[in-house]
Amino acid sequence: MEKKLLLSFPPEATFQSFAYELVKDYDLRINILKAEIEIGKGGKLLMAIEAPEENIERGIEYMKSHGIQVSSLANKVFYDNSRCVNCGSCASSCPSGALSITAPDWKLKFDAEKCIVCKLCLKSCPMKLFSIEFTE
Ligand code: SF4
Ligand code: SF4
Repeated sequence: MEKKLLLSFPPEATFQSFAYELVKDYDLRINILKAEIEIGKGGKLLMAIEAPEENIERGIEYMKSHGIQVSSLANKVFYDNSRCVNCGSCASSCPSGALSITAPDWKLKFDAEKCIVCKLCLKSCPMKLFSIEFTE
């Protein structure tokens, strides 16, 4: 499974290389998406982790035991409907039916509840109107 985590580091936790420990001791594949940390001052780090759920949970416990606050983030898909030309390309690539174009108006409709965040619409829209945002 993949999880996105927002980590908040207290000053004392900034001196240690947690990423190295997570990879070596917990067998996690990590991708640091954004980091704003100052050594000795603290900060935040946005990280994507890929591993079996059990390993991720153990890694999270490890970070918490060092005073790091860990929040899970959910992905959400957004699109800029003000620029949509209703070409239908995204709807035809959407596997869950979250995007659809139907009669009588033939305008794109987005049902966020059905979205499984497969990200196929990000590639299929010629106008590049889709983006992923992270929410706690
Ligand atoms: S991310 Fe996937 S499921 Fe969600 S709207 Fe885009 S294509 Fe459809
Ligand atoms: S592919 Fe882009 S422009 Fe075409 S209908 Fe979907 S959001 Fe609109």
